[in-house]
Parts: sequence; C-alpha cells; structure tokens
Amino acid sequence: MKAAVVNSHHHVDVVDKKLRPLEHGEALLSMECCGVCHTDLHVKNGDFGDKTGVILGHEGIGVVKQIGPGVSSLKVGDRASVAWFFEGCGHCEYCTSGNETLCRNVKNAGYTVDGGMAEECIVVADYAVKVPDGLDSAAASSVTCAGVTTYKAVKVSDIKPGQWIAIYGLGGLGNLALQYAKNVFNAKVIAVDVNDNQLAFAKEMGADLVINSRTEDAAKFIQEKTGGAHAAVVTAVAKAAFNSAVDAVRAGARVVAVGLPPESMSLDIPRLVLDGIQVVGSLVGTRKDLTEAFQFAAEGKVVPKVTRRPIEDINTIFEEMEQGKIQGRMVIDFGQK
Ligand SMILES: [Zn+2]
Ligand SMILES: [Zn+2]
Repeated sequence: MKAAVVNSHHHVDVVDKKLRPLEHGEALLSMECCGVCHTDLHVKNGDFGDKTGVILGHEGIGVVKQIGPGVSSLKVGDRASVAWFFEGCGHCEYCTSGNETLCRNVKNAGYTVDGGMAEECIVVADYAVKVPDGLDSAAASSVTCAGVTTYKAVKVSDIKPGQWIAIYGLGGLGNLALQYAKNVFNAKVIAVDVNDNQLAFAKEMGADLVINSRTEDAAKFIQEKTGGAHAAVVTAVAKAAFNSAVDAVRAGARVVAVGLPPESMSLDIPRLVLDGIQVVGSLVGTRKDLTEAFQFAAEGKVVPKVTRRPIEDINTIFEEMEQGKIQGRMVIDFGQK
C-alpha cells in the first residue's frame, strides 16, 4: 500500500509499505481521506525531533477493513478517525478525569506512531472515533483536527448563548471556531484578524462584528461596542493577539489560547487579579469532544472548507503551505489517482 513517509532530507516519499499483522485491540482502516496540517509540516521538517521513517497524518478517516482480537467498539464497515490524540495510557489521573489529551504517555498519530496518510492504517480500536453517517469523509478529516480543536476551545471558553466571544485569527482554525461559536453555542461573534479577506469571509460566515487589528485597536473597539467580550479564543500565531484578547474581555472572562507562537505573552497581574480574568490553554480534544464535533458537522452546523488532492501532491502541498498559499484544508483523497 502507498504511504507518505518522512525521509532524512525533510521531504516526504510516497512509498509502498506493508503493515504488520493486527494485535489485540487493534483495527485496520482502509483510508479514504487524510487532511494535511501545519503540524505535519513541523514533523517532516524535524522541528519536533527527527522523525525519519514515520508515516505522516493525524486527520485521517478510513473504513474498518479488519478487526483484531478483543475488539468490540468497531466492526468491519464502520468509518473511523485517525487523530493526533491516537492513544492515552488509559489509567493515569488525566485519562481517568476527562483530560485524556494531557496524558503524559500519550501517543500521537503521524508522530510517535504511523499515521493516516496512507492507503491503510492500524488504529487502537477504542481510540478511533466513529464518524456519523451524513458527514463526508473529507469534511470529517478536517473536524478530526482543526474542528475538534476549535470546538473544544469554544467549550472551554464557557461562553453562553447570546454572549459575545472574540475570535482572534480567522484562518483555518478560526473560521471553524467562528462556526462552532455561532451555530452550536449561539454566541455573538467578534472576528479579529489582520487580513481583510479573512474578515470578509468571516462576515459571510456570520460574524456579528469584524475588526482589522492592524489598522485599529481591536481591544478598544470591542470594549466600546460590547462592554468587553465574555470570552476570547485566540487561534492567531502572534503574541500581540494574546495581549489584545486579555484587554478585550470583560471582568470574569476567560481567554483560551490555541495558537502556538513561540513567545511569552505579557500578563498585567492587577488586571488578572482585580478583574478575575482567566487565561487557559486548550489542546485538541478528547474522544467525547470529537464525537460531539463530528455530530454538529454532520448536522450541517459547521462546514469545513476542503480541497481534495492525490497523495503524490504531498510535497507540493507542503511548499504551498510554507508560501502561505493555502485556503481551507488540503485533504489527501485515497480514491483519487
Ligand atoms: Zn492537524
Ligand atoms: Zn494517561
């Protein structure tokens, strides 16, 4: 079977690979789609350590072709996911308290274990989340990473119906955060970005207010228009956005960090203490979060923007990504030759 494997020159080879036999609790998926993420770019470039030989992919959707001994959660013919959160230890304080993505012995698809950017993939059956009927596999692949990450972030923000939420960064992640906030949580959304095209698209997707933070002071604008947002989700990869978000919210609000700029943010301690502001990080989502995120997408409340590509395009896709040319998600389609 064909697989996208990282080579020692920070490139990806599409090679013919044979998978080992299934072990207890495992299932074999015949892959339909796998989204290409910025994280894959980091993995193949060796930014998180040398990963030569690993099969990429943590936004995979496949159909169960075979189940190993002891599997009861999946059956042949089910569609299921290959997500970044591939497997937890199952018994630590995080795994047993609804925080399994924080497990210290976590395995990640397309990083610590072979991922879903291949015609076939072995998953741990209990950790592969079933995809509901009515959700297209390419859209589902996007929900497996960007979708669940933003759904979880909005959930963590504790926003209530009718309240204002500021979303910083309206790219691939932010656009999904906007849709979940608006169509699932019934919040009023303020979209903040430095790019007018992204803001125009956000407006089209239902943003109630949009603000270009390059030309205006976003925090000041939000305070004036809304009296301060009840929550903020920051998907932008810039320290300035994190600082602005803290200034844009009202007392008692929560600021959720999702973007990963390699910097520190400035936190005004009196502001935190006197106004009871909470700043929290949020990382992907649990299996339960992914089940919910899939269901809302299946109901048409959230529509990821995807483009199908053949696996042979993988290095070209990474080049496009590095040049910032990609809009929405590029999805490897294994039905496409
Ligand atoms: Zn991803
Ligand atoms: Zn654990």
